[in-house]
Amino acid sequence: MADVTSECNIKVLCRFRPLNQSEILRGDQFIPTFQGDDSVNGRSYVFDRVFPTNTTQEQVYNACAKQIVKDVLGGYNGTIFAYGQTASGKTHTMEGKLHDPNQMGIIPRIAEDIFNHIFGMDENLEFHIKVSYFEVYMDKIRDLLDVTKTNLAVHEDKNKIPYVKGCTERFVSSPDEVMDVIDEGKNNRHVAVTNMNEHSSRSHSIFLINIKQEHTETEQKLCGKLYLVDLAGSEKVSKTGAAGAVLDEAKNINKSLSALGNVISALAEGTKTHVPYRDSKMTRILQDSLGGNCRTTMFICCSPSSYNDAETKSTLMFGQRAK
Ligand code: ADP
Ligand code: MG
Repeated sequence: MADVTSECNIKVLCRFRPLNQSEILRGDQFIPTFQGDDSVNGRSYVFDRVFPTNTTQEQVYNACAKQIVKDVLGGYNGTIFAYGQTASGKTHTMEGKLHDPNQMGIIPRIAEDIFNHIFGMDENLEFHIKVSYFEVYMDKIRDLLDVTKTNLAVHEDKNKIPYVKGCTERFVSSPDEVMDVIDEGKNNRHVAVTNMNEHSSRSHSIFLINIKQEHTETEQKLCGKLYLVDLAGSEKVSKTGAAGAVLDEAKNINKSLSALGNVISALAEGTKTHVPYRDSKMTRILQDSLGGNCRTTMFICCSPSSYNDAETKSTLMFGQRAK
């Protein structure tokens, strides 16, 4: 399990998308100003990195995920997640356009990078890589690779490490196989809901890559896993004047995102604070891949539009709490 007493490894990166067509047509203003490569709005907010609107997918990958892949292959656990209001660029950052070499996001690049590393490594190392893909909606875990599994439970293994019990695991041996699994999961997700955009803004999607390696002569083993999380939209619901089921969803999202925020800020505060992992299903699942010796990276995704200014401020504040 992650050693909470050791140095904390949380990086907070902020990315602004460009104004979109409808924002331009409405005459929205472009709000953010960028200073250096780590701050926004006259140093009101300082992060490990700030990516202005013209940053490419490749630049984002090189600045954050490349090192994490090396670390996971070195036996560390990690989590990368994207936080922000709906349409702020979370999915663009995590997935992007899966089959477009320029526009693909972090997950497909990680898949390619892992196998590139492996092909260059000691021939006596045997790799077993498996992936899972699930979502958390209304505190229920749904397997995106097996539509019959709609309410999976979180259990602890013999080392007290939480995991999603019964979740489908697929062995993969090439980047293409990883892509196939993502496509399959996304298709299943589409079929299960009537409005995919709405649904994806209200559920957290989690892609897990598990890497085990064993030296064929020394039998030495090394394990690392990486959670890649595309969070539900962080927007306050009052904007849409929700009631009933929509309000329940909103409360649920709010609760799980603040549980995550509390865990991250407790980890950022350091050694002796109690870390409230048990307050939500998602933080329980991520427990041994957040903080401690783990590599944790949080993307704070923001809209540059004056129309979204209030949401953007609250998103930036969320990120600031982790510093
Ligand atoms: P979210 O997942 O946060 O709801 P998306 O990632 O789906 O938001 O982004 C909303 C729209 O904005 C998409 O059409 C996406 O392609 C576009 N977009 C997001 N970020 C960028 C960016 N950095 N550059 C160009 N287009 C972007
Ligand atoms: Mg999305």
